[in-house]
Amino acid sequence: MKIYRARVFTPISDPFAGNAAGSYRSHDDGFVAVGDDGRIAATGAWGDQPAGGEIIDLGHDVLLSPGFIDTHLHAPQLEMIGSYGGHLLEWLNRYTFPTEAKFSDAEHAARVARALYDELLRNGTLCALIFSTIHPRATEIFFEEAERRGFRGIIGKTMMDRNAPEFLLETPRDSYDQSRALLKAWHGRGLLRYAVTPRFAPTSTPELLELAGDLKREFPDVWVHSHISENPHEVAWVHELFPEAEYADVYDQYGLLGPKTVLAHGVHLTAEEIDLLSRRGARIAHCPNSNLFLGSGLFRLQAMLGAGVIVGLGSDIGAGTTPSMFNAMSDAYKVQQVQGIALSPFHLWYLATLGGARALSLESETGSLEKGKSADMIALDLRATPLVAMRSARASSLEDLLAGLIFMGDDRAVKQAWIAGRSVWSAH
Ligand SMILES: [Zn+2]
Repeated sequence: MKIYRARVFTPISDPFAGNAAGSYRSHDDGFVAVGDDGRIAATGAWGDQPAGGEIIDLGHDVLLSPGFIDTHLHAPQLEMIGSYGGHLLEWLNRYTFPTEAKFSDAEHAARVARALYDELLRNGTLCALIFSTIHPRATEIFFEEAERRGFRGIIGKTMMDRNAPEFLLETPRDSYDQSRALLKAWHGRGLLRYAVTPRFAPTSTPELLELAGDLKREFPDVWVHSHISENPHEVAWVHELFPEAEYADVYDQYGLLGPKTVLAHGVHLTAEEIDLLSRRGARIAHCPNSNLFLGSGLFRLQAMLGAGVIVGLGSDIGAGTTPSMFNAMSDAYKVQQVQGIALSPFHLWYLATLGGARALSLESETGSLEKGKSADMIALDLRATPLVAMRSARASSLEDLLAGLIFMGDDRAVKQAWIAGRSVWSAH
């Protein structure tokens, strides 16, 4: 057993459910004991640590937190972050599709995969729901590299068969067959899981969605990952393509809405659609940085949570301009702030950790530092930069300390990271 001594902070329940003060545990001088099986054996105040085991004293300037969870990102878009100008549909055509076409080249895919997991781990993101491209080999490479790094990922091959350049289209049958083969090879292998991943309704024929639904019926345990109602032009286009239904109904008709469905954005959903998502148990990945970058709109968090829809935070690389979940928390705060709602650091940290785990249906495994869960944790340096050190030193409370990290933290604050007890990143 290894016993890590440091400040410890972890969400343990949903602060949006009412009792924010009781939604976390914190120890100014605490410990996390990690068993040889990679699971948390105990946490608590220093002095109550179990006897025996190797003690690793991280010091009082280190805060142990659950690792961050990114509920939506596009692996192939890492290198096109910051491609500016244009709203969603122009942006896809101008930048995204040409970038994704390059992933027919396995060497290119391998280069980007290595860079991706470097960036995620460096930023303290230890679990993510990930889009690949339509290419089966590139998708396999994103799985292989995740496995090599010990990363906890849910990954899927993008499915698309219309309304994109010819070089990124596939037949519905090929898309189904290739997705199925990847699913069989990777779903449930170590920390890796598979997501059936139709890009979004506009690039899918009814036939493709039907086959995606078939896959989900055949393998009910897998995830479904897509986009919904990001941009008003996109919503209008879906009405043209599927005149018989609202956007959410399109996915529902093909059996694609359920508790393991994670849809990115949901900025422009109607009350009826939100209600449908709630009844089906589908989850929303809120990506505030991306929504601001593409000018998509302001997410109505209260409406979503009020209807009982579970929400996680996503970076949405590459429309999001950084993999940092500090930034996702900071932008989530600002998006609510301009709508007159002030989220506390406890609410924000929950969304980036345990809330994300709930959004991905992984809360029994990860998302908090609690006995029995996988030791997926990050050591944050409260003196990461001169300014962070100054801010941390004057923090009047835990809440204030977390706020300083949320608004000024970045990859420099992540000193070390462990997944399932194994060190996967160290700043030294
Ligand atoms: Zn996206």
